[in-house]
Amino acid sequence: MQKNTNGKTGLFIPGPTNIPDCVRQALNVPMQDMRAPDFGDLTLPLFEDLKKVFKTQTAEVFMFPGSGTAGWESAVSNLFSAGDKVIMSSFGQFSMLWVDMAQRFGLDVHHCEVEWGLGIPHDEYREVLEKDKNHEIKGVFACHNETATGVASDIAALRAILDDLNHPALLCVDAVSSVGSLDFRMDEWGIDVAVSGSQKGLMLPTGLAIVAVSQKAMELRGQATLPRTFLSYDDMMKTNATGHFPYTPATQMFHGLRASLDFIFEEGLENVIVRHTRLAQAVRAGVHAWGLELCAQDPATYSNTVSAIMVPEGFDSAEVAKTAYYKYNMSLGAGLNKVAGKVFRIGHLGDLNEIMVLQALAGAEMAMHDCGIKIELGSGVAAAQKTFINNHAANTNIAA
Ligand SMILES: *Cc1c(COP(=O)(O)O)cnc(C)c1O
Repeated sequence: MQKNTNGKTGLFIPGPTNIPDCVRQALNVPMQDMRAPDFGDLTLPLFEDLKKVFKTQTAEVFMFPGSGTAGWESAVSNLFSAGDKVIMSSFGQFSMLWVDMAQRFGLDVHHCEVEWGLGIPHDEYREVLEKDKNHEIKGVFACHNETATGVASDIAALRAILDDLNHPALLCVDAVSSVGSLDFRMDEWGIDVAVSGSQKGLMLPTGLAIVAVSQKAMELRGQATLPRTFLSYDDMMKTNATGHFPYTPATQMFHGLRASLDFIFEEGLENVIVRHTRLAQAVRAGVHAWGLELCAQDPATYSNTVSAIMVPEGFDSAEVAKTAYYKYNMSLGAGLNKVAGKVFRIGHLGDLNEIMVLQALAGAEMAMHDCGIKIELGSGVAAAQKTFINNHAANTNIAA
């Protein structure tokens, strides 16, 4: 099939996300000397401002060249030793890959395998931690927002379990598709490591793994014996103090990050979170109007950054995404692994507005229609329009 390439390509995947023009322009700067004495003028404020996005006052922030996966690896390799007992859960492609990584590093993983569409199994975590009277479990891992299934789990509730049991394990959270777009509170939720990346809520190209590490975790890292070099927190600390790096950093990315943080603060982080809620509600209203189900089973866990939409039995969601791509010049997220062929995803995070959401819904409707799925054309768009009109009336003071 020939791709239709007129106009702007619709990018409705949950990362990489659309980059605001001001950020794209900020990335276009000449190379500069990363050992210059004043390089810290650019980088030091970034560390401070990232803390605001993670909602932490005391954590150490790291920026590694890499993607979110490198952030995961930094947490495992800097804070644990081979054979350490940890508890993890998988309920989608991303939570599953972090489990696989920890196992490859030789951690002794209590792996809670959860049906895809559900979230963190709090009860099972409680049971396992309660039995661990000698506190042999060193880490509790959790994926805040499972991007493959559109499930956002309650991290505060996980913290409450640890507090209730007085369990000292480190709370390690994948926040790659939540930081900067969902409500995320590192300090309040007692998170010890929060992992993120540049190409989701921060609206940048892929290229930075951004990790925030609590002081408690920083103190314990001396006991952790897994080898780490490129992703070493210690090596970073030595040079980060003056705003420098142990190896050549991606300087353009720092300029882009400066612009994206300014962009977020200009809208206001709380307004960003409200906007994501508003856009997500509209997408869900559209899905409901189509008569389709989300992969996420519990409405309390519906993600405000991505919706995984189940196609009816007998249809292939990959065909829907392929049709949208070639015929309507737009990308929808594919179903990954266990949900391949069963779901397509609409990413609704980052630099996105109401009209773009309507575009995504309209394109998805046409692609589903072309694939023979019985939905009424315009029904999802109309449902979304109604939520926007109603929400706008209710939220004029927030949205203004
Ligand atoms: C995107 C993503 C990752 C990391 O992926 P990279 O491609 O390495 O940036 C990890 N976890 C979640 C939940 C994600 O959405």
